[in-house]
Amino acid sequence: MVARLFTNIIIFDGTGSDPFPGEVLVVGNRIETVAGGSDRIARTEAMEIVDGGGGCLMPGLVEPHGHITFTDVAALKELGEIPPEEHVLKTMHNAKLLLESGFTSVYSAASAKPRTEVVIRNEINAGRIPGPRLLAASPEVTSTGGLGDERQAHLDHQALEYIADGVDEVRKAVRFLSREGVDTIKVNLSGDVFVRPGFAEKCAYSEEEIAAAASEAHDRDCWLSCHARADRSVQLALKYDFRVIYHCDYATTETIDMLEEAKDRVFLAPAIGVIYATAYEAADWGITPEVVEQMRLIPMMERCIEAHQEMRKRGLRVLPGGDYGFAWNPNGSNARDLEHFMNFFGYTANETLHAATEMGGRLMGMGDELGLVKNGYLADLLLVNGDPTADITLLQNRNNILIVMKDGQYEKRRSPE
Ligand SMILES: [Zn+2]
Repeated sequence: MVARLFTNIIIFDGTGSDPFPGEVLVVGNRIETVAGGSDRIARTEAMEIVDGGGGCLMPGLVEPHGHITFTDVAALKELGEIPPEEHVLKTMHNAKLLLESGFTSVYSAASAKPRTEVVIRNEINAGRIPGPRLLAASPEVTSTGGLGDERQAHLDHQALEYIADGVDEVRKAVRFLSREGVDTIKVNLSGDVFVRPGFAEKCAYSEEEIAAAASEAHDRDCWLSCHARADRSVQLALKYDFRVIYHCDYATTETIDMLEEAKDRVFLAPAIGVIYATAYEAADWGITPEVVEQMRLIPMMERCIEAHQEMRKRGLRVLPGGDYGFAWNPNGSNARDLEHFMNFFGYTANETLHAATEMGGRLMGMGDELGLVKNGYLADLLLVNGDPTADITLLQNRNNILIVMKDGQYEKRRSPE
């Protein structure tokens, strides 16, 4: 087995502790030894010595709200216009882009078409195309008129949705998507301001429909994630054991208490990136300050910030991941969410990076072997030109990520500029 020794590095190990000088030996696809301080790992003839140039070796990042089938579109409808053949290829390119941007794992928060991520995941796992470890999602299971339903009365039109209304259709949707091989099913439990003002505070599915989706998914060992901005949607997601609850903007103190009680079984991710970019950086695409005002987007963002500051104080498992895949919030810029975590929710850089690595490993269901620089863990590693705990924005520039290693293999290697 190939042995590689990273030397002349500082190590951010993923636990949230400060980086420390040391050496790391990778043998095959696993981390064999982590040595800190003045300890040195014994050299052998066969070892490849990798001089890190004083950079930071850290666990590969995990994207908890990935959308690699979203092709940086300005409207959801455009996703439906992409034929499946092109869509697979575009998704393949995004998988490579995320990997080269430092994301060695992606937990998908919906695929635009039912089989796109499934086939990309299978090809990545078979080693035939480059890409992160991928948990493939379903399209967004949504109700008529819900987020993602882009049809008009006179015109059928697909976007990123799988329409299911009523208990029977919801059951059938989950059965179908599970048959096609998704790892996780995304259900849009609440509405959204992106559909109409005020709708984010309302449920888009009844309790009976949610219960049906959950029982089918649990029986088929599919994980569940949900779009849940409304308070009641968050409560129902908890009641029916959704594993990942996205957004939670309108969660009340009572609901946050319930989330706290469930903190060891639920993962949360606000997806602040897309809200921020839509509010302040999308004018070139027609989302002017006047449109933002009409959408009532800023009040929603304020609620999101308030709720997640409280969740941080309670020690809940809140992860980054900001819905990257839109024109003003493109795939590849996913590391921007890390900076938002510090600016808006009050996390330190170390806490943020811990959420994106060690907690990310747990989100992937691989917490005992992924997300830490630790003996025996999988060698998913980044060498960063600089210390991201001192300046987290370093990770937003792909050129600062000198090495990406996944499962012990180099996926990217470049020299510092
Ligand atoms: Zn999303």
